[in-house]
Amino acid sequence: MNSEAEVKPDRRRDIPSVGRLVSELQPAYPDLPRWALLEAVRRVLAEAREHPPPAAEASFEDVLRDRAAELARRLALPHPIRVVNATGIVLHTNLGRAPLAAGAAAALAAAARSYGDLELDLASGKRGARGGRMVEKLCALSGASGALAVNNNAGALLLALATLARGREVVVSRGELVEIGGSFRIPEILEASGARLVEVGATNRTHAADYRAAVGPDTALLLKVHRSNFEQHGFVGEVSLRELVAIGAEVGVPVLEDLGSATLLDLSAEGWRPETEAAASLRAGADVVCFSGDKLLGGPQAGILLTADRELAKTMGAHPLARALRLDKLSLAALDWTLSAHLDGRAPQEVPVLRELLASEQDLEALARRLAAELEAPGTLQPAVEVRRDRSFAGGGSLPGFELPSWTLVVRPRSGAEGFAERLRLGEPPVLARIREGAVVFDVRTLLPGDEADLVKAIQAALV
Ligand SMILES: *Cc1c(COP(=O)(O)O)cnc(C)c1O
Repeated sequence: MNSEAEVKPDRRRDIPSVGRLVSELQPAYPDLPRWALLEAVRRVLAEAREHPPPAAEASFEDVLRDRAAELARRLALPHPIRVVNATGIVLHTNLGRAPLAAGAAAALAAAARSYGDLELDLASGKRGARGGRMVEKLCALSGASGALAVNNNAGALLLALATLARGREVVVSRGELVEIGGSFRIPEILEASGARLVEVGATNRTHAADYRAAVGPDTALLLKVHRSNFEQHGFVGEVSLRELVAIGAEVGVPVLEDLGSATLLDLSAEGWRPETEAAASLRAGADVVCFSGDKLLGGPQAGILLTADRELAKTMGAHPLARALRLDKLSLAALDWTLSAHLDGRAPQEVPVLRELLASEQDLEALARRLAAELEAPGTLQPAVEVRRDRSFAGGGSLPGFELPSWTLVVRPRSGAEGFAERLRLGEPPVLARIREGAVVFDVRTLLPGDEADLVKAIQAALV
């Protein structure tokens, strides 16, 4: 006999049936869909059967009902839901990277709702190139002779490697065998493409001679990868793109640069490093460059390939992987709009990522002071708010080492920062901020139009 069962009376008998609990919950929560209630009740009852509560628990059924309602509410939420980004990280991968410009979102919605000339040439009535006009805009902006856009930059790199180097060798510096968040690793992408990795140099230093020594009859490509999420300091050295291009020309091997995050504008007057412009890599002689659509470019998720040679873009476009990785029509419409905004000179004002990164310190300070005044207005909870100068981050491996002075609201709740931050995350809409030294820090740089009033309300609500 099970001795445990003797000491602890079995509460399993008290567990209600799925049908009864659902029929009790439905009238109490008329806005929760039936499928979510059913699924939640099943899960909560299964859990209760596995771990019956101790005998003394009085309102056992009430507890089950509350748990099921809470779970059903979460199951029924759409995904993803809007959040307010007060982290000061402009390109936050966990928050979906670049928000689209209003115009890009409208173009996307219009493409979604109607038929379109996606693969049709209206003049001839014949089949047309998918994204043909978008490709022309990419070339016009960058000076590239050929271009292609696929699903994301990991896909762009995979396609380029498979086209140029399948079954052959790709030479990469050991200092550039990077991992980008979300299980993207250069050696693994290389392997998946069917190319063979030839590592050269050391983690901290790679010399031109290392590349030269590694090149052989089987070498298909020299690859340079931007170290997006870390910097090296100390006894370090790398071979510049220009030098790599010179070596490639000597030995007759093309050069591919994975830029990760790049712009199609020259923003060196704003203090941005010239290398952030994709065109600079082409001018330096790279045969192919690739970068993400939803990092500094500020468009939809996409992987953009620019080539110095028109035929190379065509060859990549004809590879079977190009079909598997192709950009969907919604992203295509948003990307096309974003490129037009760049060509028209409207991008710095209209593309949110650029607007946020180019915001002046004076404007950010004024915004922070205005929000602080609203928080401290009479009749509110009047939290102690400090307006403080701080720094934001571009994120997404963009603009390494570039200072982004910003302004923040610092709120130090008596109940502690962790609980306050959790209530903010679980609010409607959720607010994400930084926690530092017992305070929650709200950076105003990453607020979007419409976020300000919600942020003030959310802070008030989370303080109680
Ligand atoms: C971000 C990044 C990638 C991956 O780009 P996705 O668009 O997320 O696929 C690849 N390489 C580098 C250097 C990056 O910074």
